[in-house]
Amino acid sequence: MKAIRIHEHGGVDKLRYEQAPDPKITSPKDVIIKLQAAALNHIDIWVRMGATGMQIPMPHILGADGAGIVVDVGNDVKTVKTGDKVCLYSFSGCGQCEFCLSDRDFMCIRVRALGERLDGTYAEYVKVVPENCFPIPSYMTFDEAAAFPLVFLTVWRMLVSNARLQPGESILIIGIGGGVASAALQVAKRIGARAVVTSGSDQKIDRAKLLGADYGINHRRKNFADEVKIITDNRGADVVLDSVAGELWEKSLASLAHGGRLVTCGATAGGQPNDDLDVLISKEAKIYGSTLGSREDFHQLLDFLNAAQIHPVIDRKFPLREAAAAQQHMEEARQFGKIVLQTSE
Ligand SMILES: [Zn+2]
Repeated sequence: MKAIRIHEHGGVDKLRYEQAPDPKITSPKDVIIKLQAAALNHIDIWVRMGATGMQIPMPHILGADGAGIVVDVGNDVKTVKTGDKVCLYSFSGCGQCEFCLSDRDFMCIRVRALGERLDGTYAEYVKVVPENCFPIPSYMTFDEAAAFPLVFLTVWRMLVSNARLQPGESILIIGIGGGVASAALQVAKRIGARAVVTSGSDQKIDRAKLLGADYGINHRRKNFADEVKIITDNRGADVVLDSVAGELWEKSLASLAHGGRLVTCGATAGGQPNDDLDVLISKEAKIYGSTLGSREDFHQLLDFLNAAQIHPVIDRKFPLREAAAAQQHMEEARQFGKIVLQTSE
């Protein structure tokens, strides 16, 4: 099959479009998927650069998100069959620790994820386990079904499982533009929250308003903590989603209402921000670190999507062979929404 592989860590020039062995059934619980689309995530770039600290066998296929058609299954596979259209949950734990036994494989210290310890989705085929195959929401294209899993799962766990965002509450989303932030805006609006977004780009704010954002603040020109106070009659936001952090983090804390919840799943602008503990204490605020989600979260998310009919925002599609250009586009942070690789030519 054709795949994008790395033979060593480094820049986008390390991504090679080349012939790789077809994955084969080697265990009775294997499932082979003919991928129709894959989607990019920041983790792909960190794995490429070797920034995860993880030892991975080379050559290695990147990619955590994908969707396609089941083409072969092992003898013990009962839950999916050849011809099924599936999207993928990317994580498999050891199956024995306290986290795996309570459906939290993604917290397992031995977790193996597609594109990290396992060969990923920048390829024509991928091998997975049946419990990680889920039916594609009926209204979605393959491109959309590849684009939504990781970001929407992350958003679901942050906003619903952790921060418990309620209808009528206000949410502030920092740095609208990336996959997580745009998905969070879509989910928050369907829950019935009032959404305020920030960005350094007026163009991204305009696009967010088309997606339903009630207010947009350019954080290069204005102090968004002050603006949020004005918008919320001095109350502050019930939930703040800040995955940018860096110097914006203090303002995120300052934007919280009393009893507010700050959630984060990343720190693209710096991971050692200042916490103003006085603010945290006096507001009885909570901070949730959140990462990925469980299969139960994914089930709930699929039910929600089938009811809400949300289409994930796709910024741009690239053919598989142009994965380097796609990753460069992502590294330059020019995208609004997800970048998709078309794996089937
Ligand atoms: Zn485990």
